[in-house]
Parts: sequence; structure tokens; C-alpha cells
Amino acid sequence: MTFIPYSCQDISEEDIDAVVAVLRSPFLTQGPMVPEFEERFSSMHRARHGIAVTNATAALHVACLALGAGPGMTVWTSPNSFVASANCARYCGAKIDFVDIDPVTRNMSVSHLTEKLEKAEKNGNLPGIVIPVDFSGFPCDMQEIRALADQYGFKILSDSSHAVGASYLGEPVGRMADISVFSFHPVKIITTGEGGICLTDNEMLAEKMRLIRSHGITRDPSAMSGELDGPWCYEQVTLGFNYRLTDIQAALGTSQIAGHDRRAATRSALATRYDRRLAGLPLKLPARSGDRASAHHLYVIEVDTVRGESKRLEVFESLRSENIGVNVHYIPIHLQPDYRRLGFAAGDFPASERYYKRALSIPLFATMSEDQQDRVIEALTRALN
Ligand SMILES: *Cc1c(COP(=O)(O)O)cnc(C)c1O
Repeated sequence: MTFIPYSCQDISEEDIDAVVAVLRSPFLTQGPMVPEFEERFSSMHRARHGIAVTNATAALHVACLALGAGPGMTVWTSPNSFVASANCARYCGAKIDFVDIDPVTRNMSVSHLTEKLEKAEKNGNLPGIVIPVDFSGFPCDMQEIRALADQYGFKILSDSSHAVGASYLGEPVGRMADISVFSFHPVKIITTGEGGICLTDNEMLAEKMRLIRSHGITRDPSAMSGELDGPWCYEQVTLGFNYRLTDIQAALGTSQIAGHDRRAATRSALATRYDRRLAGLPLKLPARSGDRASAHHLYVIEVDTVRGESKRLEVFESLRSENIGVNVHYIPIHLQPDYRRLGFAAGDFPASERYYKRALSIPLFATMSEDQQDRVIEALTRALN
């Protein structure tokens, strides 16, 4: 039996041709393809500015810096995410803390956020930035989070790494955040190999992020402070990095956007098919809501408990033995050794820990066939009996 991964890329002949065309062109980087990709991706999500970078981890770093993260600031995120959602604050010297999840959506819980904000206001340690994560591609309760941001004065950095093409209240995901970030790693919705992007409607934030992406260097005379020595002149006006995406990657990304609708339709049909076929099993299935559409990056089931013990390990091993690439998303970030060292401990965020004990990601990707999906469903049914 061939191996079925939990996720994988879908590369078309058009994608390959687009990449080859760049390889034959004068610019492998800093050419016309990066601005074109930024333009396409931001208009797809109805954002005014897109700043493409080397990966979403860099995107989160750049966004945190642009939003003013640094020593003395606290940043909050969800424990149910990839470590990068929290690490970005630490790169800037900011303090990191977490808000527990809603067990239904598996996203940051608005009631926990509200409670924690009330307490923080009394203690004088309100966060400067909150990073909600659209886990599995299911959009967060952003309307409520936006209202809290306006009330308490924090910025919203949406980690929408899973949520390319998702929508919320009839609009593309990320519209209510100050900055939203997406990942183009091959397991995600569209890919550039490695890659990420920051979207914003705010011109000043966009300008800051463009500077930080490329060494903090400007070639715009109006942004320079000193006398120009000559037309060759550039100035480093802040400390930045080299986080640039290449034109080779941007061409792949642009071509992937062109094929996105077809791939999204396949993912959505497969997710609906899982919903129907798994409904009778002792499992908790992903949330659905009429006011938002998931990008269906991950299909996460929760294995019910028998006498207080989840059969998750048994089911995981059984599916792996049948060459089905199940996975677990995520080990709560605060339980990682490097976070325990900061003082976090088991029991700090019980909903995310309880979810983690039962969670299992089963295969879902754009090139998955119904036959492959049937193999997963049958193996899962056997494992649960
Ligand atoms: C994948 C991922 C990232 C990091 O993305 P890279 O592009 O691999 O750096 C950040 N946050 C979440 C939620 C992710 O899933």
C-alpha cells in the first residue's frame, strides 16, 4: 500500500513552466515577480499591501517589529499553534503569554481573552499585541477580538498561516487584523517552497515591513536623513534583515494562486465527505459555522475517551502501520521545554492540553483521491472498533 501523507503540495505543469521562465530571465531575485505575487495575493485577500518574505516565521518576526514589539511589551497568542506563533515575540525581546482555546473551534477563546484582559488591566500588564491563529484554516472570532482590541488598545497580528483563501463574515480572512500573516510551506494551502507574506491596509506598517525585510535600507531620497553623495546613494535607516523571497519562488506562488480555486474546491469536497462518512464514529469532528468558511488546511479529529483514556495513541499507530500519514497538531507551545524554562507548566492552559491528548490530523490535500480517502476512513473505522 502506498503512503498517504497528512498533507502535500500540488504542483501543476503550469507551475513548473512559470518557474522555468524565471530561470531563463535576467532576474532570479529582486525582479518583477515578487511585486506581481504580492499584488495578486493581496488582491485575493482584499488587502492594500502585501510584503512577501522568506517564510511565515520571518513574516511574524517582521510584523511584530513593525507593531513595536520589544522589551517591556507582552504578546499573547494561542497555545494550540506551531511554535513560530510565539517565538516571534521572543525574537524581539518581548514577553510571551498565552490565551487558552475554545474547545469547539480550537482557536483562541474570546471568553478566556476577555477574562485575561480584565485581569491584566487591573495589574497594569495589558498586552501590546495579540496573535490569534486561524487553526486548521478555520477563521477566529475576529469581530469580538477586534472589539476587545479597540477597547484595550492592543494590536492584532493574525497568524493565518493555515487560512489562505478562508473567509469570515463574507470577507477574506485577515481583514480585521492590523497585520495578517500567511505561510507558503509545501504542506500549506499554496506553496512557494519556503515563503510567507504580511498583509496590511496600513501604509506606514507596510513601509516599515518593507524596510525590515531588506536590511533596513532605503533607496528613496525622501526617506533619507543626510546629504546625498550621489545617485548611487542608499541609507540604512533602521536595523533590518535579509528576509526577501526570490523571483523563482514568487513565480511559483503566482502560478499557485491561479490554480487555487480548483484546489480549494477539492479540499472542501473532501472535508465535507469526511464530515458525512465519519459522523457515526466516536469522534469529535472539526467545527462548522455558517458565518465563515475554512481553508481546510488540516482535518483534525478528536478521539473520544474510553474509561477516561483516549485511544489516540492506538489509533495513531494503527493508521501509521497501514501507511497512512496521520499527525498531531499541536503539542501546546507552553509545554515545550524551552517554554517550561520561562515558567510555563502543565495545567496552565487546560483546554489546549485536553484537546492535545485527543487530537489526530488525518490526511487532507488537494491531490487526494476519493480512493485514498476511503482507505483512511476504512482504516480509521477498524482502528476504533
Ligand atoms: C507553518 C506555520 C508557521 C510557520 O510557517 P513557515 O512558513 O514554515 O515559517 C507559523 N504559524 C503557523 C500556525 C504555521 O502553521
